[in-house]
Amino acid sequence: MNDLDLLPEPNDAFEIASVRLTVDLQALADNWREMARRSGMARAAAVVKADAYGLGLEDCGTTLYEAGARDFFVAVAQEGVTLRAYAPEARIFVLSGIWPGQERMFFENDLVPVLASEEQLAFWMGVIAEFGDYPCALQVDTGFNRLGLPLADALALAEDVSRPASFSPVLVLSHLHSGDTPSAPSNKLQLESFQQVTAAFEGIESSLSASAGIFLGQDYHFDLTRPGIALYGGEAVNGAKPLRAVATAEGRILQIREAQKGETVSYGATHQLARPSRLAIASVGYADGYLRSLSGSGIPLRGDGSHGAFGFIAGKRVPVVGRVTMDLTIFDVTDVPEQHIHTGDYIELFGPNISLDEVARAGGTIGYEMLTSLGLRYERRYLEAAD
Ligand SMILES: *Cc1c(COP(=O)(O)O)cnc(C)c1O
Repeated sequence: MNDLDLLPEPNDAFEIASVRLTVDLQALADNWREMARRSGMARAAAVVKADAYGLGLEDCGTTLYEAGARDFFVAVAQEGVTLRAYAPEARIFVLSGIWPGQERMFFENDLVPVLASEEQLAFWMGVIAEFGDYPCALQVDTGFNRLGLPLADALALAEDVSRPASFSPVLVLSHLHSGDTPSAPSNKLQLESFQQVTAAFEGIESSLSASAGIFLGQDYHFDLTRPGIALYGGEAVNGAKPLRAVATAEGRILQIREAQKGETVSYGATHQLARPSRLAIASVGYADGYLRSLSGSGIPLRGDGSHGAFGFIAGKRVPVVGRVTMDLTIFDVTDVPEQHIHTGDYIELFGPNISLDEVARAGGTIGYEMLTSLGLRYERRYLEAAD
């Protein structure tokens, strides 16, 4: 058939997508305002690393900027360059600092490197000796053992009268390793170490808390907070209810099949049906970040008897059965009345009815990893925030 005119007009891409993602920008803006409110006297920044936790730097960055965020954190310089177009007046901090050769990228886009090692610091001293004063931030390690100057070195730097006058950090920061566990004694210890740092760098703004730390109370707020996951609807504190859901992922039902008791499902035949069953084959798989570890059976994680993930359709929770495959996942929809489920319908993978963190836990991971694993196949729809 050569006459394309005989074919129907293309529909809205979202309405016909095999896998699709809705990002509620109004919820994102509301979540940022809520975290700003919970930050009390401190200013709230917005952490938008990894393409705004997988939800899209352009749309999320623009929304957060319009909601009022003026301080942003990205992981790497290239993310800062991208963000600059959407956040013209914002201060953009680059958490991994600066490499030799990136000076121009930083200066042209007005990015602030977060210096986190003696090596970076030495390089930076050379840069400002040559080009003059330029803002930087300083990360101090208070027990994480990831990035940051050792505490003693940071305190020595603060006292060092021989350091160049043009060296003028605009922010000192540290990061809690167990902020999501309010009872962890380490929170208080890290707080005390960081208080030594802020005292030594008197007059310079300070920042300790990501999403979780904001909930630990005013002592943890300092001048600037750094919420990330809470903005995107993920659980910040273990077991605590997240703010509004932002992302809804859905897979389309390609086929519904009746199967007999005793038959098996998916690769490896690891699930045997205990009753006559109706199975929905959904167009989503581990290539879409619907992780293989969400399988109902046939993976090491299920060895302990725990269940796999659930989807949601027609008001019912429906379990994944057998192994999740690259592009397809099988859900047991026997308990959904036949007239309420059809091929072409969408199953919610996570969103307002099945929380991101519930799904993450079923797969042995965290909401952060689910979001940043979403993959390239989703047709995305952004629900605009009202002004
Ligand atoms: C990722 C990150 C944040 C944000 O953390 P959330 O737990 O997502 O709020 C804040 N600060 C640093 C240093 C980070 O790496």
